[in-house]
This record gives sequence, C-alpha cells and structure tokens, in this order.
Amino acid sequence: MRHQVTLIPGDGIGPEISAAMREVVEATGVGIDWHVQQAGAKVMDEEGTPLPERVLDSVRETGTAIKGPVTTPVGSGFRSVNVALRRAFDLYACVRPCTSMPGDGSRYEDVDLVIVRENTEDLYAGIEFEQGSDGAHSIMETVASAGAGTIKPDSAISLKPISVSGSERIVRYAFDYARANGRHKVTAVHKANIMKCTDGLFLHTAQRVAEDYPDIAFDAKIVDATCMGLVQNPNDFDVLVLPNLYGDIVSDLCAGLVGGLGLAPGANIGANQAIFEATHGSAPDIAGKDLANPTAMILSAAMMLDHLGEGQAAARIRAAVRSTLQAGDQVTADIRRQLTGSADGAVGTRAYGAAV
Ligand code: NAD
Repeated sequence: MRHQVTLIPGDGIGPEISAAMREVVEATGVGIDWHVQQAGAKVMDEEGTPLPERVLDSVRETGTAIKGPVTTPVGSGFRSVNVALRRAFDLYACVRPCTSMPGDGSRYEDVDLVIVRENTEDLYAGIEFEQGSDGAHSIMETVASAGAGTIKPDSAISLKPISVSGSERIVRYAFDYARANGRHKVTAVHKANIMKCTDGLFLHTAQRVAEDYPDIAFDAKIVDATCMGLVQNPNDFDVLVLPNLYGDIVSDLCAGLVGGLGLAPGANIGANQAIFEATHGSAPDIAGKDLANPTAMILSAAMMLDHLGEGQAAARIRAAVRSTLQAGDQVTADIRRQLTGSADGAVGTRAYGAAV
C-alpha cells in the first residue's frame, strides 16, 4: 500500500532538511507518494500569499503532511503560515517528544518526556490591538515608529481566550497519549495563581478530566516552577500538557535538554489531518550552506510513519539516528560544537542524512 503525503519543503533551511528527510524515509522502503507543495516567503512574491489554497487542498486530500520551517515576515499583515495551517485544519494538539540520545551533546543523559501543547487558543489567537492617547495605530505604524527611536502608541492589548472545550480536548489528548504510549504521569502547567480566569479555567478543567484516568498519575505545576524543575531534574516529568504560549516556550527549553532545536521533532494533530514538523524555525543565518542539522525533520518523519501505521520503519529511523549520533564521526556543526566546543570535523546536512 502506498501512502499519500503532502510535503511542504518551506524556506530558509527547509528545502535542505526536507531533502535529507526524504532520502532517509525512502531508504526504509515504505511506499510514499509525495505531493510537493511550496509555501512561504518566495511563494508570497509569486502568488500574493505565502499559503495558497492549493496547499490547503492538498493537505485536505492526503490528510497527512510533513513540513519544513517557514519564515514569518515581521511587520506584514500575514501572521504566520504555521499558525494559519494549524487553524485551517483545527490541529489542536502539538506533540513534541524530548528524548535523550547518546551523543546528542546535551548536559543530560536520560531525559524522556513529552510536551503536549494546546495549539488553537491562548495569546496565539492573534486578537491584539494598539491603543494610544491619539487612538489606535496599525502594526506597521508601530514598527516604523520603533525603528525611528520612539514607540507609539503608549499601550497595546492582547487577548487570551481559553475555553473549557479547548482545554478539555487537549487534556484528554494528553491522557489518551499517556495511556497509548505506556506513560505514567500527566502534569498540567499553568499560571492560575495570577491568571485566575483563563489559566484557572484550564487548571480546573484538567483536574476534572484527570478523574476519568485513575490509572495515570496527575499533578499540576505553575509554569515558572516547572521551568526550574525541568532544568534541575527533568526526570520528575513524563507528559506535560500546557496552554499554547507556555507550550511554545517550554518546548524550546525541553529541546535544550536533549541536544537543541536541531534534534527536536513535532506533530500537529487534528481530528482529520496531521502535520509533522521540526520544532525549530527556518534558521536564515545558516540557510543554503549545507550546515543545518536535519535530525528534527527526520525524527518528525518517524512520528509521521508511526501515525501512518508504519511503526517498524519509524523504529528503524530512530535507531539509525541514535547510532549515527552515538558514533559521532559524521554529525553536523551544531552537535559537534556542543560536544567539543568547535565545529571542526563536522559534516554537512547531506552527508549526515546519507550516514543516517
Ligand atoms: P530558528 O529556530 O530558525 O533559529 C534559532 C537558532 O537555532 C539559529 O541560530 C539557527 O541557526 C539555529 N538552528 C535552528 N534550526 C537548526 C538546525 N536544524 N540545525 C542547526 N541549527 C539550527 O529561530 P528564529 O531565528 O527565531 O526564526 C527564524 C524564522 O523561522 C522566523 O521567521 C520564525 O518566525 C520562523 N519560525 C518558523 C517555525 C515553523 O515553521 N514551524 C518555527 C519557529 C520559527
């Protein structure tokens, strides 16, 4: 049986890491028809939008996509291709496993936790506006005035919508994920001591849902204490479920526990579609130089293969990544630098992909 998968290479380092990922997936022998769809900054110039309807149609049809990072233009009206995709398909659950691998260059050896981030609500809803003494300003005016040395207007407001239904479905997802993957504890992360209405609602919903899963331990932790706990003793954590913004920040923190952004995979899951992508961005500073680490993208493909019922191929990819990192003689500059303090002896994106 052949699987239909939409491939969005993205921009910046996206095309390079997508090519390495594709080569690794094809080496497993799993039959995939890749529906390649371009999106991002370059497409914006050519088609007037960074996310043309044809991309959405393709994802709607295949149901499964893997995506390279896409640059978010600063100061333009378009918020983000990533946020738009999550919204278009109601991809409410962002799943980011953080697992140590020998040779990953991190300070920890046995981290094994999973971030489940709510993907549709919270401050990412994009409801924000500026308010000054002389009325509302546009985002462009604010950016321009900041560049000129003064920031106008004097105040800006962002709204943080959190719902019981949105909280309930993400917390249920976290508990169901824990059950399905042999995990033992779910920690709900919040700031309900300060944001009593919004985070309070998330916390109370989590406590209520937890009662339906007596076989899985549950606790709740304030987000700042969570950050300290993760750095001091990451083994205290198993599955963490968080509202959108804390999830975004804490998942980068956790990527840092297991070798950095170049190694951290992710999935955005909805009822009918799933989009797999690395946690990191388009890394414009190293784009086009054969320097990027494609591991996060390759491990995102392993998550995709699990999702497609190709668990054996996924396991082989994870084993290949582990042994390549463990051997350590064909790793990219980011890993080499963490291991030895210098990039000397590193290989490029293509050579690393071939080694895997
Ligand atoms: P970034 O993740 O692109 O880069 C942060 C740092 O990590 C850079 O020094 C970069 O070189 C390094 N890095 C990232 N990925 C790497 C890899 N695979 N291998 C080696 N080094 C890597 O974050 P940024 O610079 O803040 O964002 C750049 C652009 O990406 C922005 O426009 C941002 O909005 C966008 N972005 C997109 C996504 C996405 O598509 N899902 C996610 C985050 C950021």
